[in-house]
Amino acid sequence: MAAEKAPDTYGITAPYADELNDDITHWDRVGEFPHDKWKPLQRSGLFTLPFAPEYGGAGRTLTETMAALEGLGHTSRDAGLNFSASTQIVSVGIPLQAFGSEDLRGRYLPQVTSGEAITAHAITEPSHGSDVMNIRTTAVREGDEYVLNGGKMFITNAPVAGLFLLYVRTGKPGAFGLSTFLAERDTPGLTVGEPLETMGLRTSPISEVTLEDVRLPVGNRLGSEGAGFLIMDYVMKREVLFSFAVNLGEMAHRLKRVVEHATTRQQFGSAIGKNQAVAHKIADMRIAVETARKWLYDTGLKVEQGKDASLDVAATKIVVSEANQLTARHAIQIFGARGYLTGTGIERELRNATAGSIYSGTNEIQRNCIAALMGL
Ligand SMILES: Cc1cc2nc3c(=O)[nH]c(=O)nc-3n(C[C@H](O)[C@H](O)[C@H](O)COP(=O)(O)OP(=O)(O)OC[C@H]3O[C@@H](n4cnc5c(N)ncnc54)[C@H](O)[C@@H]3O)c2cc1C
Repeated sequence: MAAEKAPDTYGITAPYADELNDDITHWDRVGEFPHDKWKPLQRSGLFTLPFAPEYGGAGRTLTETMAALEGLGHTSRDAGLNFSASTQIVSVGIPLQAFGSEDLRGRYLPQVTSGEAITAHAITEPSHGSDVMNIRTTAVREGDEYVLNGGKMFITNAPVAGLFLLYVRTGKPGAFGLSTFLAERDTPGLTVGEPLETMGLRTSPISEVTLEDVRLPVGNRLGSEGAGFLIMDYVMKREVLFSFAVNLGEMAHRLKRVVEHATTRQQFGSAIGKNQAVAHKIADMRIAVETARKWLYDTGLKVEQGKDASLDVAATKIVVSEANQLTARHAIQIFGARGYLTGTGIERELRNATAGSIYSGTNEIQRNCIAALMGL
């Protein structure tokens, strides 16, 4: 069903389950982006959801988009692909729609909503990860152009991306010294590094991006000069909601699998779930999933309504990433040696969950943010 007509967006990727889940263990082992699996996601309309119809979008709300991404997490066992898909929606499309000029939106948004151009956003640098305000990559204005120099690190989708949103310094260190630029992959001076080998999310490729005298027209800037931090804040709120909604779907699927196993696997003459030590782990998994759900959709609604949700977003990020890690650990324990085998796909979930406390602002930085909002 087309994304713009589906009464409930949750199920839009479900019809593509077989294609998405084909040969998962192989793709995880080789650690490559599965290009063929991008196609069913394009056909599902997932990438169109939160965008305006004039750019090929489905005009759905933020929480409807979250529901679709939760559905993707439940359907697709390829957490790397799922992460790349949420990055596709949020990294360029969301800021382009909110802050891009009419010219930029008209030229690039249709490529984003169709999924034809894979997108990435480049914020982190080798010397500045958590310390985002002090990033060093610069853009210096020369007439009608900016000249960009520097380097970015750990950029999701970069090895396969056609469009990049670059967060760079146009002013002094601090919140108002950052600006945001859109660059095509083949812009002279923009070099994408080789994919970096990773522990988890192995089908979501990440790499360095180097900028050497990259010349971009002034018109490629999103928003005004110095608006980079405001744009980043807008994007990060949605990145947390979208990528961790995916994790909610993945956790709900994991819980189902665990319950099924605990009620069928027999030891000492009864199902292992009859043991309190096992049942309590499953009860904790259920609490973790439901807590994640409440935070995600409560915060999603607040953001959708334009309410102040800075503390909520930080708390949601911590709650869901830690729930994902806890439920993945419990799943391995409950599956025993079978959980430790690569073939069952259970151990992969723990590897995939590990990065969630690092990306989108580490959990330590999120706790700092909550403490600061509390006046500490
Ligand atoms: C899978 C994955 C995908 C990513 N995708 C992207 C992407 O698409 N684009 C992009 O720009 N970046 C991306 N990143 C990078 C990510 O944003 C950074 O890894 C993150 O911001 C942390 O930076 P760092 O790794 O340099 O760690 P550091 O900043 O060096 O921190 C190391 C440790 O010290 C702690 N720490 C640092 N400062 C403080 C402090 N003040 N108080 C308390 N603790 C502190 C951190 O919490 C962390 O535990 C990705 C990372 C991963 C793992």
